[in-house]
Amino acid sequence: MTFAISSVIQKSIEVKQLIYNSETIIASIQEIIEIVTDAFRCDKKVLFCGNGGSAADAQHLAAELSGKFNFDRKPLFAEALHVNSSYLTAVANDYSYEEVFSRLIEAKGRPGDILVALSTSGKSKNILHAIDTANRIGLITIELSGDTCEEMEQMCKYTIKVPSHDTARIQECHIMIGHIICQAVERNLFSTKKPAVFLNRDGVINKKMPEGDYVKNAEEFVFLPGSFQALKSLIEKDYLVIVVTNQQCVARGIIDENQLHDIHKRMNERIQSNGGRIDAIYVCPHDISDNCICRKPKTGLFLKAIEDFNHNGIEIDIDRSFMISDSEKDIAAGKAVGLKTIMVGNDPLPGTPSAKNLLEAVQSIVFQ
Ligand SMILES: [Zn+2]
Ligand SMILES: [Zn+2]
Repeated sequence: MTFAISSVIQKSIEVKQLIYNSETIIASIQEIIEIVTDAFRCDKKVLFCGNGGSAADAQHLAAELSGKFNFDRKPLFAEALHVNSSYLTAVANDYSYEEVFSRLIEAKGRPGDILVALSTSGKSKNILHAIDTANRIGLITIELSGDTCEEMEQMCKYTIKVPSHDTARIQECHIMIGHIICQAVERNLFSTKKPAVFLNRDGVINKKMPEGDYVKNAEEFVFLPGSFQALKSLIEKDYLVIVVTNQQCVARGIIDENQLHDIHKRMNERIQSNGGRIDAIYVCPHDISDNCICRKPKTGLFLKAIEDFNHNGIEIDIDRSFMISDSEKDIAAGKAVGLKTIMVGNDPLPGTPSAKNLLEAVQSIVFQ
């Protein structure tokens, strides 16, 4: 008999779907993100406790905060209370297992700190004891449990109850919710906001090949007058510079990814030796008939860039960001993302600011 793998996955999805649809749970997660962010801003710490699988989840989440989640930043004070096995066995032996967490909270907890209590049943005595002690000392108590016991819910200031009775499914959601909180807190505390200038490549940075032809090697990549100076100015004004380019020549087999990579490597080297920089290049290598999500005027390349930078602790400030292109389709894509747009070249677009070339466009940005 085969094990019903799909049905387990289905059940896990169903619980997550319930959370996804629950305004109450989403609002609670949001609220907890703010509470935890504020606590760290006030130099407080977050303590986690749980038994068994929840103990593993507790230390996993503590590590996301004290180590890092996505990007390099200062550590945060977060700890799971069960990680000292000598302490645990001593206190369980000399006092009782019920006291293993509460005793440590007495030792480490200070008013304004946070206790995150994980319990799938909501009934564990040592967890209830811990919450009680935490409340008494003045910690902010947060419950992560299942759709069960009300006692724990009544004791905690903030609660998230995963709508399930199945321990494994509840734990899977605890980790998902915990990840969301850790990621958001990291972003709140450490992410920097920067404006970006998105650029089309051919016809903006370098000379476009004749209709139907493509830049196939570094020798055919000819910089347009003023490009170096324009890119240097953007870096000096602290703009991110991101190239978004359709290269259907790859799908058509005219050049391969390696050749494209070579062209971009040489392009970057020359820009850098002239004082500029390209922070990232996003390429759609597909053919128009592939109907992909990235070929401009679709917005896939832009969204991927925004996501990647976010992941690395940089939030692209859309309101202060631009798309510069010689193509109407790119301008449409830029507008769809919410960017300001500048059309360069000889064919101005009604209703869109225009410039003769990249340099003139950049000057209108940096001297505005
Ligand atoms: Zn993780
Ligand atoms: Zn594509």
